[in-house]
Amino acid sequence: MALEHSRSLLLAEAATGASQSALERRLEDSTAVVSVDPALPLGMLTARVLLTTLRRGPGRLVLEPDGLPGGEIRRLEAAVNGVDGDRPLRVGGLAGDDRAIRIHVGSSAPRGVTRIAPDGYGAHVAAASSAVIRPARPGNGLGAVYAAALGAAEVFKHTAGVRTARRVIHRHLRFCPVTLSGDLSRAPEIPASIPLNLGLIGVGAIGTGIALILSELPAEGELLAVDRQQFDRENRGTYSIGNADDAVARPNKVELAARVLRRFDVHEFPYPLAQLLTAVDAGTVPWTPLVLTALDTPEARREAQRLWPDRLIDGATGDTMVGLHDHTHGHDPCMRCLFPERHDIPSGAERLAADLGLAAHVLAEGERLLETSDLRGMPEDQQQRLRPQLGKPICGLVRALGLTIADAEGFMPSAPFISLQAACLSVGRLLAGVLGVTPSGNFMQYDGLIGPQHASVLHMKRSPECYCSVRAQTIATVRARRGSAVGGPRLNPR
Ligand SMILES: [Zn+2]
Repeated sequence: MALEHSRSLLLAEAATGASQSALERRLEDSTAVVSVDPALPLGMLTARVLLTTLRRGPGRLVLEPDGLPGGEIRRLEAAVNGVDGDRPLRVGGLAGDDRAIRIHVGSSAPRGVTRIAPDGYGAHVAAASSAVIRPARPGNGLGAVYAAALGAAEVFKHTAGVRTARRVIHRHLRFCPVTLSGDLSRAPEIPASIPLNLGLIGVGAIGTGIALILSELPAEGELLAVDRQQFDRENRGTYSIGNADDAVARPNKVELAARVLRRFDVHEFPYPLAQLLTAVDAGTVPWTPLVLTALDTPEARREAQRLWPDRLIDGATGDTMVGLHDHTHGHDPCMRCLFPERHDIPSGAERLAADLGLAAHVLAEGERLLETSDLRGMPEDQQQRLRPQLGKPICGLVRALGLTIADAEGFMPSAPFISLQAACLSVGRLLAGVLGVTPSGNFMQYDGLIGPQHASVLHMKRSPECYCSVRAQTIATVRARRGSAVGGPRLNPR
């Protein structure tokens, strides 16, 4: 299998128990049939992102043309074939293939077809024919991309044959990445214009997802894009922008972001992160009060934290896990609290795990659900903290506690539908700040094959031994110097 599909394959191997070669055949031999209700608000965007996300993996893709104007069909074909012209989108046919997974972008479809639909900032996913999808308001760019990413996950569960214990097929999932709840109406209406001044550190699997979502929202302003690398062939299988031509031309990744972010004044910084601080303090690169990080390693996260912005929103993935770390200066743990350099200082996660009082052997039983009996004998306060986690897989809890994040291998670029969900959480959190939605927790994770309805949302605390606590005065001085050079809009502080 091509190198660019290796992440999907690795992920599938762990979730299915099948051998890589058997999986390779299974995935290449799979068929996903997509149909679209063109009258659904942002239905075409949802379909485009669903199809292009699926096209980054192996298998046959079929578009059901019924009801679609010719122009829309051609636009979808161009987008999909641009990603991978060797596996072109098939229009029509294969209707009788009963092994195919069928997915409909819209509210109603025949039995056996999974439906997806954006609703405001969030999405519906429904496999049960009895589920009624009645969007409370038109979807926006975030809702459309989230619906597409969730839809691509449903396809993967079927085509890869993910084991029953490792996945949930959503009978009717509703989830909003702004409020982190199933209430799709709670977040206020999207403003006509969203002025932003932000840094995007890392234009990789999650970073390209963030750029894609921002480009589909009424967002505008200034954006500093930081990534030293050029787009490469293997990136095509995991990123949300970048196509076959880019795999040949190899543009800087920051250039890819600038290409889609047309309403932004994009400052491209195609150099190592270590050079960014020097450039910021020399005044050649603007300091941004808001920073979105989309990075692979704890080292890079700690380095980015040294910008000491007002707010740093960190998107993360690890195999099938989707994660969000939200740091508001002076309130939340910083990236150095969560990913400490010195191993003799317990990470925020380790402190919390010890605090929870769960035995190591219980934490090791990853796929079992946390049961009431696990809580027996614990002091009442410990039981109280764990009760919301009852019935959730222990692996989710363990990862939610960040017990794997000390390991650099734990957060790697994942399959694109996982990275795109992480990007949705990051942009959802950014919008929560813009809309004045009180965020729940500063640490959120869920398993992309289980779904956000079983997310672990936690309030992590700052580490008293961390640089951010010990050297608070130095940081305040640095922030004052950098911030005084910056005007422009600021997000609502917490
Ligand atoms: Zn800290």
